[in-house]
Amino acid sequence: MTDSSRRLRGAGSFRRSVSGPVASIEVGDGLHVQEFFAHKSLLCDCSQYFKAALDGHFAEGQKQKIVLDDEDPVIFGTFVAWLYQGQLDSQGVEAALDGSERFDYHIAKLIVFADKRSITELENDAITMLLSFSHRAGPVERRVVECIYEIPHVLQISNLLCVLASEEVHFRQSSRMGNMTCYPPEYLAIMVRILLEPVESRIHRSLKFFIDDLASFCNAYHTHQESSKVCSSLTDNAYVPYVPPETQRPSTKRPRILAAGLTTVINISDDREGEHR
Ligand SMILES: [Zn+2]
Repeated sequence: MTDSSRRLRGAGSFRRSVSGPVASIEVGDGLHVQEFFAHKSLLCDCSQYFKAALDGHFAEGQKQKIVLDDEDPVIFGTFVAWLYQGQLDSQGVEAALDGSERFDYHIAKLIVFADKRSITELENDAITMLLSFSHRAGPVERRVVECIYEIPHVLQISNLLCVLASEEVHFRQSSRMGNMTCYPPEYLAIMVRILLEPVESRIHRSLKFFIDDLASFCNAYHTHQESSKVCSSLTDNAYVPYVPPETQRPSTKRPRILAAGLTTVINISDDREGEHR
């Protein structure tokens, strides 16, 4: 389990947290305002921002309310799901998005949100999810890079940009490389540097190398309060694609055509995996 899932489920602390007071958080502005309710103890434990906002300034019995009119309710919904589930559930996120935006862009915005609100464990889990997505599905889209450039470039964020650029250089199909000029100039500079590197250096930046080596992964991409501490697993926050219900339970009227369709899907998936080996 990750640090976050241990925190939420260990030694009865989660049960104690969810028996305490609840705060109301109003998220968004204009027509897109949504009100969320979450246990104060969980919010304060995960973030110094919420701790400062909720601790000590309310008389007993007074409604505890925070207004976040500069945040996206959909992103906040993913945060609340993480808060109670103790991990990111890619299938749940994709089901909630329902095709309204790309999964990788949503996760990039989640990283920005977590950084801004000092929710370190969510930021770690979201970075794991984004890299797992890229490892499985291929290079992320341009808006993801632009989004991550909003975050102050601490070492972990610089490393994240570097590995995303590396994936882009080595796995992007040539037909999709055409519009390179819309990337931030600093990102293009990273790409050029990677292109000029010897092959051995590239191998040591590949995602597979890090996924097989937890300590290196945590050192490179996560922020842990105790620097010696690492996540015990990355699988809780690994990307698993969402399969819509109609695909899970297809009609049995045309089994022959269905079988052909499934074969095609499997072949495409295998090809994609092959590109990353
Ligand atoms: Zn870690």
